[in-house]
Amino acid sequence: MYSARLEKLPPYPFARIDELKEEKVKKGIDLIDLGIGDPDLPTPPHVIDALCAAARDPANHHYPSYVGMIEFRKAVASWYRDRFQVSLNPENEIISLIGSKDGIAHIPEAFVNPGDYVLVPDPGYPVYRTSTLFAEGKVHIMPLRVENKFLPRLDQIPTEVTREAKLMFLNYPNNPTAATAPREFFKEVVDYATEHDIIVVHDNPYSEVTFDGYQAPSFLETPGAIEVGVEMHTLSKTYNMTGWRIGMACGNRDIIAGLKKVKTNVDSGVFNAIQIAGIAALTGSQECVRRSCQIYEERRDTLVHGLTDMGIECPSPKATFYVWVPVGNGVEYATRLLDEAGVVVTPGVGFGPCGKEYIRFAITRPLPRIEQAVERIRRII
Ligand SMILES: *Cc1c(COP(=O)(O)O)cnc(C)c1O
Repeated sequence: MYSARLEKLPPYPFARIDELKEEKVKKGIDLIDLGIGDPDLPTPPHVIDALCAAARDPANHHYPSYVGMIEFRKAVASWYRDRFQVSLNPENEIISLIGSKDGIAHIPEAFVNPGDYVLVPDPGYPVYRTSTLFAEGKVHIMPLRVENKFLPRLDQIPTEVTREAKLMFLNYPNNPTAATAPREFFKEVVDYATEHDIIVVHDNPYSEVTFDGYQAPSFLETPGAIEVGVEMHTLSKTYNMTGWRIGMACGNRDIIAGLKKVKTNVDSGVFNAIQIAGIAALTGSQECVRRSCQIYEERRDTLVHGLTDMGIECPSPKATFYVWVPVGNGVEYATRLLDEAGVVVTPGVGFGPCGKEYIRFAITRPLPRIEQAVERIRRII
């Protein structure tokens, strides 16, 4: 009944854990869910006010523009200029997205022919792989290993793969490893992509979720990046707007034009009132972003110190709201945490085979719940 394309998708890895979770909930057991990559904090009030006002204006009730309102694209351009000193032309170097997932899911469609290689980080956001398979591309895994600071080794990609590679996905600050990339790595990526004519798609949803004074770069800051790549960005994680579905693709105009061509045929843009709220988020005070980071930082410290005290080796991440912990067998460990401590985490294998020895904590729950999770884990360790 299903297409070969659907049959090619990797099997859902968490059926057993979901079953167990359901059992626990049915029994009325209190679970602390640190499995969710979605901020628990609310969208800032001034953004909600902008949406409400814009929703009442009938001028906003029509089909939006495919590429986004020019005012939204200008707000994105000015945000990129202020934040990264990157200059983008809002006319042809920026389009709106229905969240960055929209851009990631559709970009291979525009550039990948059947049999072309796509370079995909493993562990990584699962859509890099599935969008490649939907476009009938071949996935070449770039392992992210702790000994390489969770950066792919470009020199280890086989020559025959490089030759037939059309596109490369990257994501720093990284989900799930929480690793960050130094600027020299992006320089290496630009050199590699330029030499081998590979499109770079840098997924950057966590650039504003950073701690300890760290500031994440945009890939587009790298000299030459705009010749070879685009950056997918989103308001989801920065402004706690995951449900709103608004993001942007920025960078090389020919790559943006290809993505636009696909999207013009599959969706009809982002509701104007949401774009107007997005403008309020990007151009308003960024105090709300700093406040969110402080909250995550406190939670991170509680979790990381708690785990370290128990002898669980656990580096303190500079960015993202994830903590990536090596535990041996990730599925077994996650099952035990759920079963014995009532703490839900994500087994690393959900992000690819190279994540199988890890679990991912998402610190998207209030501090007292994180403290409680640490205590519960301490009791079973
Ligand atoms: C959350 C997330 C996304 C999706 O963000 P949306 O803009 O909400 O679609 C994309 N990539 C990574 C790595 C993420 O963690």
